[in-house]
Amino acid sequence: MARLETRKSEDYYVACLTVIPEEFAAFREVYDKRHSRPLGIDPRDPNQYEFGEIAGHNVVLCSATAADLLRSFEGIKYALLVGIGGGVPSRACDVRLGDIVVGTPGYLSSGITHHDQGKQLSDRFMHLNFPVPPPRAIQAAVSQMRVRELDKSSKIPNIISSVVGKLPSFNRPDNRSDHLFQADYEHAGEGSDCDECDKKRLVQRSARDNLAPQIHYGVIASGGLLVRSAAKRDSLRDLYNACCIDMEAAGIMGTLPSLVIRGISDYADSHKNDHWQKYAAVAAAAFAKELLQCLPSLLAGSTSCSDGTSDESTVTTQPISHTLENLLEREARTIKAYNWRESIVDLSKILGLKWDVGSRPQLANALQVNKGPNGSATQNNALRRALMKELRVENGSIVIPGHLQALRN
Ligand SMILES: [Zn+2]
Repeated sequence: MARLETRKSEDYYVACLTVIPEEFAAFREVYDKRHSRPLGIDPRDPNQYEFGEIAGHNVVLCSATAADLLRSFEGIKYALLVGIGGGVPSRACDVRLGDIVVGTPGYLSSGITHHDQGKQLSDRFMHLNFPVPPPRAIQAAVSQMRVRELDKSSKIPNIISSVVGKLPSFNRPDNRSDHLFQADYEHAGEGSDCDECDKKRLVQRSARDNLAPQIHYGVIASGGLLVRSAAKRDSLRDLYNACCIDMEAAGIMGTLPSLVIRGISDYADSHKNDHWQKYAAVAAAAFAKELLQCLPSLLAGSTSCSDGTSDESTVTTQPISHTLENLLEREARTIKAYNWRESIVDLSKILGLKWDVGSRPQLANALQVNKGPNGSATQNNALRRALMKELRVENGSIVIPGHLQALRN
């Protein structure tokens, strides 16, 4: 066997994060070239890694926490979260098993919604943790992917064939095992498959004319709890427009701006089983490989890939102040407090702070602002400027300093 090349750990700038062994095994097969373990990995790092090249990028594949990864690989600029997720079918999104969902920033979302972090107010759930959107160079590569899909030049089916040629047990299950039951019909019987479930309760869907995965770009609802309920699934669909549910993304995205790519392995309901997991993992890995073909290489001396059109400027990450603005703007739209750039009332509402005029002196005191009469425009402006200066972004969330905690609404 030929000796594998060795690189330094800092040469790896793309990380691919997986959770279950099937995801790791599927992604390992999409490397163009493998490397041996690089020098310079923290010896205490307990994680499982693979190393190699895809489309001229040095890519580390890991089954790891982001914190461990970043300790051993300081050069990581892009992270792809590649694996399986639960589909959320809706009128807008006819997602089927084996399809691919890509967490894509939209009007109100970074592409990932952290659905179980925040606080319950009397009339709504307020999100306090906003994962950051994927890096701009990755977003540009996603745009390229959409073009490839439109002009039918995508190579995803070929990549999938090549992987399942090497891993036959990862082949696509029969369409007859893609069961989407009506939301009010619970799984029957002891077994994990749906042999005993009433097929008259299946949702009727039109047949597709080919077996290639369809790609859906939209919101992925991410949380710490396994969703195994059609009612919960459909509430996430209605609340966030989600087309996929996963358990890992939001936690990792807080640490590392990432793109989340999910192969659909179930419908997050009581019928959920692992029959489609391996194929779904291959579908996600195939998308990741093609995406990397659309991402300009950062290696010194290398030319950007033939499909990449982004110039160097798209590679830079967003400055923190921009991220704070984005986070504020996103929450402003969610709670319809659009005037936060001019109004202390709207800014306070966004941050979950007391916003009534009666609390203004307490806020002025906490911010050490002594300008204008209480409730005046002068005071409003001074408070707003002072409050903005106190805010910072940490792990993709707005952090409000401790001395303002007493002003929480
Ligand atoms: Zn069932």
